[in-house]
Amino acid sequence: MNLTIEVNNNTLQASQGETILDVLSRNGMKVPTLCYMKGLFPTGSCRMCVVEVEGRRNLVTACSEPVLDGMKIMTHSMRVIESRKTIVELLLSNHPDDCLYCERNGSCELQKLSEDLNVRERRISGNKNNYKLDVSSTSIVRDPAKCILCGRCVRVCEEIEGVTAIEFVGRGSKTFIDTSFNHGLNLSSCVNCGQCIMVCPTGALKEKPHINEIKNNLSNPDKVVVVQYAPSISVSLAEEFGFKPGQNIIGLMNAALRRIGFNFVFDTSFSADLTIMEEASELVHRVTNGGVLPMITSCCPGWVKYAEEFGHDILPNLSSCKSPQQMMGAIIKSYFAESEGIAPENIYSVSVMPCTAKKFEQQREEMTQNGISDVDAVLTTRELARLIRMYGIDIHKMEPELADSPLGTRSSAGKIFGSSGGVMEAAIRTAHYLITGKEMVKFQVKALRGLQGRKEAHIQIGDLNVGVAVVSGLKNAAELLEEVRNGRDDIHFIEVMACPGGCINGGGQPIGTDEEAVKARMATLYDIDEKDAIKASHKNPYIVELYDKFLGKPLGHKSHHLLHTHYQKREVN
Ligand code: SF4
Ligand code: SF4
Repeated sequence: MNLTIEVNNNTLQASQGETILDVLSRNGMKVPTLCYMKGLFPTGSCRMCVVEVEGRRNLVTACSEPVLDGMKIMTHSMRVIESRKTIVELLLSNHPDDCLYCERNGSCELQKLSEDLNVRERRISGNKNNYKLDVSSTSIVRDPAKCILCGRCVRVCEEIEGVTAIEFVGRGSKTFIDTSFNHGLNLSSCVNCGQCIMVCPTGALKEKPHINEIKNNLSNPDKVVVVQYAPSISVSLAEEFGFKPGQNIIGLMNAALRRIGFNFVFDTSFSADLTIMEEASELVHRVTNGGVLPMITSCCPGWVKYAEEFGHDILPNLSSCKSPQQMMGAIIKSYFAESEGIAPENIYSVSVMPCTAKKFEQQREEMTQNGISDVDAVLTTRELARLIRMYGIDIHKMEPELADSPLGTRSSAGKIFGSSGGVMEAAIRTAHYLITGKEMVKFQVKALRGLQGRKEAHIQIGDLNVGVAVVSGLKNAAELLEEVRNGRDDIHFIEVMACPGGCINGGGQPIGTDEEAVKARMATLYDIDEKDAIKASHKNPYIVELYDKFLGKPLGHKSHHLLHTHYQKREVN
């Protein structure tokens, strides 16, 4: 560190190229921000982070201003505080006053800023925003009236996801965020990833709720209501109830789900194992029979829709496997229904997912058998937390319980699906066995772990040197695919997840998820993998039983009918 600056009369060291905000954050000094997003280029457009710099006439934005040697900064002078307060008052002047009814009551950054800046009276009055709700999407509800134009959603959609489904429209006081031609999210290129919800400071973006439908079915005596939960839920729900980030509360969650009234509780990690059986078999088949390569995973519905919109040429590369959510749904309404003697139409099948795009996937026409949906409703992690509270359950007082068997018993390969790289690692374990007839000496593939947007490895499986790549964030996927289109041929298998870091950072996870929480969730998944005895999907005895008793063999007739799907080209507006 070669620079010395002074902040509020304290001397601090700084490095060339750092912004004022970087130095303040590193030293535990907080200034409020709104439009700023860690890791993206700062614009300073909201001016919430202004500070006073000696010798400068105007206040400067800490997020975008580089530090200079000898700079003297005041972060909380009267002028600075008044300026921030006025910004908040202006934002509140046309903001709807329905905080008590708002989804984000209690987790709204505008509310928090008003409180922190001691805004206690309405000094500026304006006409309330009056825009129409956009409820057209299967996954996301947009309420432009609550939008404060921070632009975070626009940036995440364009710079992380490469989708650009929403943008700034109009000028000056008539500016708002909209989809192209005001057609609504359902007709836009939106892939339903929900990353915009995760960054929105207010209630302008939220998931399409499924809670009411589920409540109705729970109180219908003619319905058998079953629930499955994705691998990442047990390590992310914890934070909603004050446990430490990443704590695995699977036993408490099982108990809470039963107290709510679900008749059967299943773990989607089981069907993640099933996905691996089919997907690894498909990979081996493609590699040994000259099939289309690289094969690309299909368990992320955000990615699948992106490929249907922007990657018509690579649709043959996508694995034909349904996602674990849909495989579990199909097995519940066939094998489970048959073995329990329940008519499939009397089963109401709910899933709890870290993901808003799963609400879209569940409603796809392809995800039905004889007109009956594989899955009937999808809750995000946030909605599950709400449901637990609504049913008056104190999760802290629960005694841990196991999920129902056999669809609740997993290998740890199924569990690590929750993290970017987990699907690939699980698939390699089984592909190795299928190709060589032997287990891997060491199951872990460390090169595929971590939060980087792209990870690659070459793995020797028998005589084959298999090139694999893992990408998360669709912009990273687009870049890798461009390399493949341009002739890169050393990669045979690609895992794509729309959300950066994978499902542990999905668009349905708790609001306020930060990098530390994501790392903690990831660490827990790999810790489970470290400690569990059964580390490969093909070694899950209940998966073996499912094939013996019902499915036959991977890629067989019944598997193909129930567990595989196809894709459609979609035109983008
Ligand atoms: S859900 Fe994803 S793709 Fe759709 S608008 Fe939000 S960030 Fe963009
Ligand atoms: S919808 Fe939310 S994230 Fe997007 S600009 Fe408005 S307030 Fe910001």
